[in-house]
Amino acid sequence: MSRFWSPLVNGLTPYVPGEQPKLDNLVKLNTNEHPFGPSPRVLDAIRAETSANLRLYPDPNGDALKHVLATRFGVAADQVFVGNGSDEVLAHVFLGLLSHERPIRFPDITYSFYPVYCGLYRIPFETRPLDPAFRIDPVDYLDADTERAGGIIFANPNAPTGCFMPLADVERIVAGNPDCVVVVDEAYVDFGGQSAIGLVDRYPNLLVVHTFSKSRSLAGLRVGYAIGQRELIEALERVKNSFNSYPLDRLALAGAAASVDDEAYFLDSCKRVIAIREDLVARMSELGFDVLPSAANFVFARHPAHQGAALARALRERAVIVRHFAKPRIDAFLRITVGTEAQCEALLDALRDILGR
Ligand SMILES: *Cc1c(COP(=O)(O)O)cnc(C)c1O
Repeated sequence: MSRFWSPLVNGLTPYVPGEQPKLDNLVKLNTNEHPFGPSPRVLDAIRAETSANLRLYPDPNGDALKHVLATRFGVAADQVFVGNGSDEVLAHVFLGLLSHERPIRFPDITYSFYPVYCGLYRIPFETRPLDPAFRIDPVDYLDADTERAGGIIFANPNAPTGCFMPLADVERIVAGNPDCVVVVDEAYVDFGGQSAIGLVDRYPNLLVVHTFSKSRSLAGLRVGYAIGQRELIEALERVKNSFNSYPLDRLALAGAAASVDDEAYFLDSCKRVIAIREDLVARMSELGFDVLPSAANFVFARHPAHQGAALARALRERAVIVRHFAKPRIDAFLRITVGTEAQCEALLDALRDILGR
């Protein structure tokens, strides 16, 4: 609290990002970064852009990047919005498309930035509980008898559970709410989900949000995008041009476009992560962990004989960092990013040590 702060700022509860440790020797499995670096073509493109041209502003519209994304997804370039990480895209979505009188709706357990944006933009919201298996029940978003939602947002695959909702259920939610925007945050879709982008031409109320941070191994570059019909994209452009006209710098625009151009590297590196995940799930299950089915680059797991916070602490003492959320219903769980084979080996060694096996 400060008398110099605005009433809004005094009332905020900001998002707390996962730790970015200053030590190099830790096995870092806490923020869902990709374990393998980006395509070498991305680094070449960034190097080529590193010149005296940095004195010039970047393209405020990111047209070249929008063009490659539009081509890849079979949509028009004006159906693509690009921003400084999908967090920024989501911020504009909350302000421009979800801020209405009626409460917006999202699961009780999902990306914890959503309620933070609601606080920042004073958007009323209500949550719907995940089912006992930690899945989103589409019926919770279809109730015609209660008051209609002002908007709906969920992550698919969901975070931090990793659980994936079939596309048919996503479509039921979108089709059942024609008067509000339904946002599908597909940050992890490339690790085993099914994208809803193929539905945008049929549903004017559907917006799909993606990021380069996870599957494209570019968390440090800060690039995200949204795909939807023109009317929705135009709202985001209006917000963006009322906030920061140049959200993506020259290096980010060049690197992101090069990443989309190297489809083979992208597909192969995601496949490698999926294979490591499947092995990790099997071996954690052997250690007695209850692991939720994951379609993401992380696993969400609990051990019946150990508390989540204590396990996270014990792992940290062994130089392995994972994410623990001290929240109702998921307090027993750890969210563990799928690392390299060697990192997963280190994690399993530490777990065996802690569990005495
Ligand atoms: C990581 C993540 C984001 C944010 O990604 P950035 O593009 O790095 O801002 C958004 N949504 C979900 C569900 C995420 O896990």
